[in-house]
Amino acid sequence: MENIYRPIRCEVKDIITESPTIKTVVLKPKEEFSFLAGQFASLTVPGVGEAPFTPSSSPYDKEKLEFTVMRTGRVTDAIHNLKKGDIVGVRGPYGKPYPLEHYKGKEILLVGGGVGLAPIRALFLALMETISNYKRIVFCCGARTPDDYIYKEMILDKWHNLCEEYPLCFRITVDKKNEEWKYGEGVVTKTLDGLDIDIKNSVAVVCGPPIMMKFTTLKLLEIGYREEQIYLSMERKMYCAVGQCRHCLIGDLFVCKDGPVFTYDQIKDKPNIWA
Ligand SMILES: Cc1cc2nc3c(=O)[nH]c(=O)nc-3n(C[C@H](O)[C@H](O)[C@H](O)COP(=O)(O)OP(=O)(O)OC[C@H]3O[C@@H](n4cnc5c(N)ncnc54)[C@H](O)[C@@H]3O)c2cc1C
Repeated sequence: MENIYRPIRCEVKDIITESPTIKTVVLKPKEEFSFLAGQFASLTVPGVGEAPFTPSSSPYDKEKLEFTVMRTGRVTDAIHNLKKGDIVGVRGPYGKPYPLEHYKGKEILLVGGGVGLAPIRALFLALMETISNYKRIVFCCGARTPDDYIYKEMILDKWHNLCEEYPLCFRITVDKKNEEWKYGEGVVTKTLDGLDIDIKNSVAVVCGPPIMMKFTTLKLLEIGYREEQIYLSMERKMYCAVGQCRHCLIGDLFVCKDGPVFTYDQIKDKPNIWA
């Protein structure tokens, strides 16, 4: 019988400092590891422990696997201290991905804040592989300050330049700018003001800290999105990742098995969804 807990070995190829608290770890899997955008995996640092993360790299890239990790405690500390050549374990993928088959022919609004840009980056890279399937991508990103912006070069240079070639636009903001910042200022919900989008033929995908997800969802509802058009990537403390330990329950839904991607109408009546 297949062992659902078996991690595969991965070699650390690079560690990229994204912000004072966030790093991206670039791994080379020693065996094939496939995932779909939105799914997550459990990353083990030998001798320390494991924690769940959503890959932030392209699901189409079989050569490398990237995780973008905010330092919050024991395991994430150990991940930030990894060095090139170290070996870690990855098990998964787990959970339900973004249902791209429902996104076909639509305008896709991506809204990401802080480390919440990680799953959105994997999704964006997957969408770009089959861009002719979608009408347009509107990508709204936010961070607290310019220094907190992750994927800065990728978003502000590489991806921004794609707008001339593809049906794509970016709305970029920070809560508080500095002198060098030439983009918007204000919380990420501000990027939703004056959206030129055909809301009836659109889906919105949101990932970020709970407070950002809450106010973004309320704003999306206010401007006309229906509950079932809003896709949220939910996080809960979790251990097993396979529906056994019950630590990740939102009401009667398991984040690990039924999520982590939920539409707002699936979870809106569950207790403490923004906790
Ligand atoms: C499906 C899923 C995908 C995730 N993807 C990412 C990702 O791409 N990048 C990333 O940086 N983080 C992600 N997380 C959160 C990440 O798993 C936690 O930050 C990590 O487990 C913390 O482990 P630790 O040992 O460093 O901290 P701990 O020592 O366990 O805890 C430190 C603090 O963080 C809190 N905490 C721990 N886990 C969570 C959690 N899941 N949600 C909220 N608070 C938590 C604890 O209550 C405590 O206050 C994801 C979580 C889930 C469930």
